[in-house]
Amino acid sequence: MHNIIQISYFIAAFLFIFGLKRMSSPLTARDGIIWAGVGMLVASLITFFEPGMENYLLMTTAIFVGGVAAFWSGKKVAMTDMPQMIALYNGMGGGAAGAIAAVELLKGDFHSQTFLTLAVLGALIGSISFSGSMVAFAKLQGLIRRPMRFPGQQLFNIAVFLVAAGFGAVLVIQGEFTGSIILIFFAAALAYGMFMALPIGGADMPVVISLFNALTGLAVAFEGFVLNNAAMIIAGTVVGSAGTLLTQLMARAMNRSIGNVLFSSFGASGGAEESVEGSMKPIDAVDAGVMMAFAERVIIIPGYGMAVAQAQHKIFELMEMLLARGVDVKFAIHPVAGRMPGHMNVLLAEANVPYDRLYDLDEINAAFLQTDVALVIGANDVVNPSARTNPDSPIYGMPILNADQAKNVIVIKRGQGKGFSGVENALFFGDNTRMLYGDGQAMVGELIEAVKEF
Ligand code: NDP
Repeated sequence: MHNIIQISYFIAAFLFIFGLKRMSSPLTARDGIIWAGVGMLVASLITFFEPGMENYLLMTTAIFVGGVAAFWSGKKVAMTDMPQMIALYNGMGGGAAGAIAAVELLKGDFHSQTFLTLAVLGALIGSISFSGSMVAFAKLQGLIRRPMRFPGQQLFNIAVFLVAAGFGAVLVIQGEFTGSIILIFFAAALAYGMFMALPIGGADMPVVISLFNALTGLAVAFEGFVLNNAAMIIAGTVVGSAGTLLTQLMARAMNRSIGNVLFSSFGASGGAEESVEGSMKPIDAVDAGVMMAFAERVIIIPGYGMAVAQAQHKIFELMEMLLARGVDVKFAIHPVAGRMPGHMNVLLAEANVPYDRLYDLDEINAAFLQTDVALVIGANDVVNPSARTNPDSPIYGMPILNADQAKNVIVIKRGQGKGFSGVENALFFGDNTRMLYGDGQAMVGELIEAVKEF
């Protein structure tokens, strides 16, 4: 039986990695998720045959309740709420690693000091990831609207971390598992995760979420060693390394170091009013349609609002119509546009926009100078020129798409709503910018009708 269990774990691990590989392209991502899901099913089922597993009723009930809740919420969740969902699931992973460690610490039956150290480390990291992810969830859900900051916060955070690390060290060194030490250790670790995430500003959330994701993977891998469970070790390591790479990519996209994300107040003034000169100039769909129909080069910049409006199919139609008129149409994709990595790519792929029309920030930024119309649909922070020009702006230094350099800019949004970072956008007040107010899907529909007329 031992061999069958190990081979099954190996198969599960292979399926996780194969699934992850398939997820690297929007064309194969869907079946990548299914392969990884099959891997998880294999790993879960074979666990029933692990020696020492007795409480089948409890295990089955837990899997049933968790499975039904996940299936129901997965079916129900709106695409725009996915980031919250990811933060929640990610937190659950960290919490599960912490819970495993708590059970093992209470049992106190470790083969060696190494396993004990791994259990404590996994507990520390898992608990931080759990509470930090819950705060990230609350921020993305709009339950916490502003970064919470107070004087001396960083020193306070360091002190809380030292309490957690100190009690963890006591557990490892003394090998004594009194309930109160374990309790203080967990309470401090959970508090640290929470306090660490609270002051982080809106614009930094993508980096923070992927950092917590990496931490969850690491915690699961550590607890895998403690339980001698190969599937957990491999899955945790895969999540940990993929999460670390993603964190680095996201941090690079924001032009920041991880330390800077965690310990500076970037974007923390969320909502701070910046005075921007000029006024927003409205345009109607007919005039905007004329501009686009007679343009030579158009760049479309999608953002979170396109996801809210579910305007991707209409955008595809508009693209086809412009292409048929001989207009050169490209899409500029900012790495943190929307609310999760690859958000815009997924939506545009769903609407059949060809992948070779999508350009990254570095590839497209120089092209704006030769562009007749930049059409911004539901994007805000990722096209805010203050990030480039205003050292006092909370988002100063974040690389943006240079839409303001196009000859004409048309911005589709519903009203005066700000972006995720809560910062005013100088682009909307530019002399070459016109605002097409309304819901993204409805406005692109009107643009299509207007272009049809010519
Ligand atoms: P923003 O959140 O900056 O702006 C979205 C804009 O869309 C708003 O100004 C809103 O204005 C408009 N909008 C909302 N609904 C509609 C609608 N139905 N039709 C038309 N417009 C609409 O989006 P960006 O994509 O530019 O930037 C993403 C932000 O999210 C960045 O700050 C990023 O750091 C952050 N973030 C990104 C994550 C990621 O992984 N990609 C994860 C977490 C956060 P109005 O209300 O006036 O319509």
